[in-house]
Amino acid sequence: MAKEDYYETLGVPRNASESDIKKAFRRLAMKYHPDRNTDNPQAEEQFKKVKEAYDILSDEKKRSAYDQFGHAGVDPSMGGGFGGGADSFTDIFSDVFGDIFGGSRRGGGRSRVQRGSDLRYNLELNLEEAVAGAEVKIRVPTLVTCEECSGSGARKGTSVATCTTCHGHGAVRIQQGFFAVQQTCPACHGSGQQIRDPCRACHGQGRVQENKTLSVKVPPGVDTGDRIRLSGEGEAGEAGGPPGDLYVQIQVREHAIFTRDGANLYCEVPISFPSACLGGDLEVPTLSGKVMLKIPPETQTGKLFRLRGKGVKPVRGGQIGDLLCRVRVEVPVSLTKEQIDLIKQLDESLSGGGSRHSPQAHGWFDGVKKFFDGMKFS
Ligand SMILES: [Zn+2]
Ligand SMILES: [Zn+2]
Repeated sequence: MAKEDYYETLGVPRNASESDIKKAFRRLAMKYHPDRNTDNPQAEEQFKKVKEAYDILSDEKKRSAYDQFGHAGVDPSMGGGFGGGADSFTDIFSDVFGDIFGGSRRGGGRSRVQRGSDLRYNLELNLEEAVAGAEVKIRVPTLVTCEECSGSGARKGTSVATCTTCHGHGAVRIQQGFFAVQQTCPACHGSGQQIRDPCRACHGQGRVQENKTLSVKVPPGVDTGDRIRLSGEGEAGEAGGPPGDLYVQIQVREHAIFTRDGANLYCEVPISFPSACLGGDLEVPTLSGKVMLKIPPETQTGKLFRLRGKGVKPVRGGQIGDLLCRVRVEVPVSLTKEQIDLIKQLDESLSGGGSRHSPQAHGWFDGVKKFFDGMKFS
């Protein structure tokens, strides 16, 4: 019997594009899919033909060989050959329709052994711990492998049987509208196994909930947003699979004195009005203890003093940062009559000197005066 022309089988012209061929195949595959034609034995035959034609015409090399030499140029048993058997339909189906179903492959090949989930733990540190590094004990609620059954889920001394619903494939095919869709086997939840006599300790889960205490080594210099990976400290895997990882997410608490910006630390230091005028030694805090900072006479409020190397050594390496101290001149409060009189005297004395003692204020008032003079009031 002469073989049908592949282009005719798919109902496309000889110059059809790749996507035309794919479209035609999708349409015909749906039409002839055996799952939709259970009462039509011809359909399977037709489906095979369509599939064979598609295998050749969707492959650039095979298509060109077919165009030159006809059926003699291609051997359908190579590569795209149709092996038969129910599973093969599914394979084809997911090849072409995978994008519709989110690319899900058939479940039978899915591993029973699954890696455990990764866990995340939020670890709050104070600034001192973050800068100096610390060893912190944490308690993590997690799933650990059941000791009683070594993770199999079967009662000690019994074994795990193959699931009778899916015959160990872990998936079943169900009809959903036009399509036959693979679904995780409801009997075994995809494991392909059935536990007849479940382990008492884990109720057949193979894993038990436990609060695991871990010691976390926090390296010096960490900052909010950094995370530390503890390999293999996540949840235990299913059915003896490898465990996931634990990610420790660092959050550094606000500090009463210092704020941090990368490797630098900032702090504000109040100084008295006389100290600002006369200068002197100022005691400032650092993370490694107090240091003396020399304040020159006539220091204005807001002036920034840099203490080199008193910042943070970044965890990823690099230069140690600085501590930047901003001085804030404090206006004296709760003044006695005597003190008020002294300040009045000081004020009189200062105003006698004109712009000499307060250049900023004078400069500013001059600017305001010029601004008003320049305005046209009509
Ligand atoms: Zn168990
Ligand atoms: Zn099953």
